[in-house]
Amino acid sequence: MSFLTLTHLEKSFGANRVVKDFNLSVEKGEFISLLGPSGCGKTTVLRMVAGFETPTAGGITIDGRDVTSLKANSRNIGMMFQAYALFPNMTVADNVAFGLRVKGVPRAERDARVAEMLALIGLSEMGGRFPFQLSGGQQQRVALARALAPRPSVLLLDEPLSALDAKVRVSLRNQIRQIQQDLGITTIFVTHDQEEAMSISDRIVVMNGGVADQVGAPFEIYNRPRTKFVANFVGTLNTFEVRVTDPATGRVALAGQDLTLPDAPLSARTGETLTVALRPEALRLGRLADAEALLPAKVTDVHFMGSVIRLRADVAGTDVSLDTFNRPDTPPPTVGSMIEVSLSGRDFIQL
Ligand code: ADP
Ligand code: MG
Repeated sequence: MSFLTLTHLEKSFGANRVVKDFNLSVEKGEFISLLGPSGCGKTTVLRMVAGFETPTAGGITIDGRDVTSLKANSRNIGMMFQAYALFPNMTVADNVAFGLRVKGVPRAERDARVAEMLALIGLSEMGGRFPFQLSGGQQQRVALARALAPRPSVLLLDEPLSALDAKVRVSLRNQIRQIQQDLGITTIFVTHDQEEAMSISDRIVVMNGGVADQVGAPFEIYNRPRTKFVANFVGTLNTFEVRVTDPATGRVALAGQDLTLPDAPLSARTGETLTVALRPEALRLGRLADAEALLPAKVTDVHFMGSVIRLRADVAGTDVSLDTFNRPDTPPPTVGSMIEVSLSGRDFIQL
């Protein structure tokens, strides 16, 4: 049995069914993200695991124990929220000690644990400060230490980075992942940011309207999305209507061109039209030796993002996004110029 299981979990508020037949098995030490747009039920799932909401139906087990009707404080769970959740009138050390004090951990052990936790988050010198004397990122590290101090068996994080600015957000997410791996603590992390979820998770649950649309490793979710919703929510997508002229050899009509794409997964019969999708990095700038086909395109927009340059281009009336790596000796194409785009059928995502 997995360390944490959610089985046929349901939650309704009045007539509003916000979590629907939600199933998930989490292994010990796994880092799982719940990813989805605002209002899709992520927080509600997390609150049911924590014991702050009672499921309308279904069950929850942790470490082989049915906790569905256990009170929150008997579940041994650590929780961290978006921001500003520290007790403002307590020092950093007292904030971290809070859960230990509630549990009646003796003074000496408590002090030792607080010192250990402050070292873990790299704030050993800050125990005597108050939250307002810390940066947002430091406050969130203290919140993490506070959640971890009682040595919970499961860590639940609800959008803990969303109030921070971009640089701090990336740095703190890496620290959270590092600490999670060092401690081997089973973690569920809620976010609406797909890049964040992909960069730190072992597996991602993509949620849509209270339902888990797909559960999988980031690589799998990104490259083999099972629904249109997942494909669109995770990353950017170029979609094409493809008319299959010969499925056996991979002959298709795409963007006004007759192409042969032997590697394309064409589950269609002759004459049928499919919608296929390609990620921006599957449309490659230039004439590449390993590509199956070339498309002419006209550049309509250039976004220089640093290591990657995202081009918008017009391919026979279809607007596409394509990514190319920056090279210091090669300026990107200019708006209005004609380019060639290489593609291969093996990169198709069939929707
Ligand atoms: P997310 O965290 O994905 O943004 P939530 O789980 O917070 O989504 O909310 C899911 C849906 O449930 C929303 O429509 C929200 O309005 C509703 N909801 C959440 N909590 C309550 C509540 N206590 N009472 C009534 N409706 C709620
Ligand atoms: Mg939420």
